Amino acid sequence: MSQTVLIADLHLSEHTPALNTLFEGCLKQWQGQIDALYILGDFFDAWVGDDDDSDFIRHIKTMLADFARHTPLYIMHGNRDFLLGADFAAATGATLLPERTQITLYGQPYVLVHGDELCTDDLAYQQFRLQSRHPQWQAAMLAKPLAERRVLAAQIRQMSESRKSAEGKSEIADATEAGVLALMQAYAATPMPTLIHGHTHRPAVHQHQLNGRPFTRHVLQDWHGHSGGYLTINAEDGVQSHLLSA
Ligand code: MN
Repeated sequence: MSQTVLIADLHLSEHTPALNTLFEGCLKQWQGQIDALYILGDFFDAWVGDDDDSDFIRHIKTMLADFARHTPLYIMHGNRDFLLGADFAAATGATLLPERTQITLYGQPYVLVHGDELCTDDLAYQQFRLQSRHPQWQAAMLAKPLAERRVLAAQIRQMSESRKSAEGKSEIADATEAGVLALMQAYAATPMPTLIHGHTHRPAVHQHQLNGRPFTRHVLQDWHGHSGGYLTINAEDGVQSHLLSA
């Protein structure tokens, strides 16, 4: 059966061998068998620039390039891998998606985002997001030597980890109703598109209304430890959730 697969928040790195193997198995299974693979951000736990030539990055790039020779591959930036650029896309055959992407699949409209823009109560993060997505900020970052960028990325990761463990999974890091409606205002139509995102690590299906028009929001499963998950979309069943474990 013809279907499209969506994943997000794999947070792959050289420190996640079990997840890397799990993902490699998925790619082999999906290659040539699905219509397209959409990765909705934070595929990598960190991305310091397309010139990163570590063994891990080279291996992943080869895997993605093999896959993309047979099956269309789309990647969106997350808040960890927002520096993925044109050289990465050229090396893998992946298409980089804009941070808000509207598509039609099997006759139904969808809006795809990473999800960090929906967490509107996290003011400190939204400020960092604005700054870090600015072309000048990114150019200044990418102009630093690779070794220095690796140190910076480790520091940013550590900050984010200690903040996470201090707050737990507090309300502040979840998508807000206001954030969801503000985004979907830009896509108001009858019928409303279905919203799909990751980032919050709170996989679920939510129902919303915008000015009386109902719509559904799917939150993707994050990958951690030895397990992950993905969504499929096809003509018969619409959006379906699947769990994976190593
Ligand atoms: Mn994220």
